[in-house]
Amino acid sequence: MSETEKNIRDDLFYQQKNGYDLMDTEERLELERYCGEYMNYLNVSRTEREAVREGIALAESKGFVPYEKGMALTRGTKVYLNNRDKSLLLAVMGEKPLSFGANIAAAHVDAPRLDLKQIPLYEDSELCYFKTHYYGGIKKYQWVTIPLELHGVVCKKNGEKVDVVIGREKEDPRFVITDLLPHLGKDQMSKPASQVIQGEGLNLLIGSVPYADDGSDRVKLAVISLLNDRYGITEEDFLSAELEAVPAFDVCDLGLDRSLIGGYGHDDRVCAYAELAAICETELPERTSVCILADKEEVGSMGVSGMQSQVFEAFMSELCESQGVSLRECLWNSFCISADVCNAFDPMYPEVSEKRNGAKINYGMGICKFTGSGGKGGSSDASAEVVGTLRRIFADNKVVWQMAELGKVDQGGGGTVALYMANRNIDTIDAGVPVLSMHAPFETVAKFDCYMTYKGIKAFYADR
Ligand code: MN
Ligand code: MN
Repeated sequence: MSETEKNIRDDLFYQQKNGYDLMDTEERLELERYCGEYMNYLNVSRTEREAVREGIALAESKGFVPYEKGMALTRGTKVYLNNRDKSLLLAVMGEKPLSFGANIAAAHVDAPRLDLKQIPLYEDSELCYFKTHYYGGIKKYQWVTIPLELHGVVCKKNGEKVDVVIGREKEDPRFVITDLLPHLGKDQMSKPASQVIQGEGLNLLIGSVPYADDGSDRVKLAVISLLNDRYGITEEDFLSAELEAVPAFDVCDLGLDRSLIGGYGHDDRVCAYAELAAICETELPERTSVCILADKEEVGSMGVSGMQSQVFEAFMSELCESQGVSLRECLWNSFCISADVCNAFDPMYPEVSEKRNGAKINYGMGICKFTGSGGKGGSSDASAEVVGTLRRIFADNKVVWQMAELGKVDQGGGGTVALYMANRNIDTIDAGVPVLSMHAPFETVAKFDCYMTYKGIKAFYADR
């Protein structure tokens, strides 16, 4: 091949490179530092409430203060709004007034899990169980025979709120949902995977020792008396509780080269942390930076803590009013990265993806122009102009990124918070970390892609 031929290819073809061919030693050390901090965050953020709590702790350590009505908001002021302990909005005030718009990144901190029902406790055959109702899109068969831990709150009649965490400490007990032994699994194994484990079969085994009396439900009585001793609660208190059973796996390095991270809840705490870390390092931006950690994305972004909630308008209009700017004008000129994970191409399952357009492990932050399903149905589909803006920012800041698509055409689909932001007349695009085994109890991401997502959002916050 002649030199001219080589040059014409370099000039005209779109060529992607493995991220490890693009990184120097210094950046590699920075990647390890960042990923170590992310892994610590993920390990202690097992629920949306914990992700918000940890987010606030980090933000406060970097100078963020709770927003209060009437406070002075000048360039560089860092404020946050804790929405009912379940979603979090942060801002760093920019040099330009909000009429120029804000740079917004929106991720979610809820993840698929098993919620306890409101009357969860029962005994069968002298074994005690918690009944659950799963939250978000799961393959139910993945949630049996793995260690589970319990996190959440119990709100008592007298107004007292009790925090519950069982299973996080090394010496804590854990819980499990049992499965049938293969020796007797002939009928079960002939069922479709969606029916192998039923929703009403997702019951946590929580005890087996009977109470020392001769009444009924002796194991259940023994279990509730243990809970009463530890938390001062009775069976009736479950009526006003939010208790979530989540996988008990610790976050860890994966692979001999330690290039991947295994853990529960990468979707979407991996992007939530990228935003948090980025906004915490944003000092004096030109445009106001806004970071959102939303709840309820996995069930449609509904409710007071979801991305459809008007708490977003409430927060933004407070900031706007302090400058005499109309909220409508601010949103119209804003730009939003809907920071959510995308699917990584999995060579184990090549048949569901289209290789030329799917995101690959170690190729950087995944940009999804559209999500949805069946002919882009239900997607906000970012415009060419919006993609062009991101290309400029990422090129100027050496952010390694790639295009992503959620599987083959007509293979399936999904959504994010993007459409709810776009419906508010904000230019919005999905961008985030490619994930293997998304929504499984133990998901996999690549450190390189985590780092590039953080770098990408940081560059976005710093943009004019
Ligand atoms: Mn997500
Ligand atoms: Mn998800």
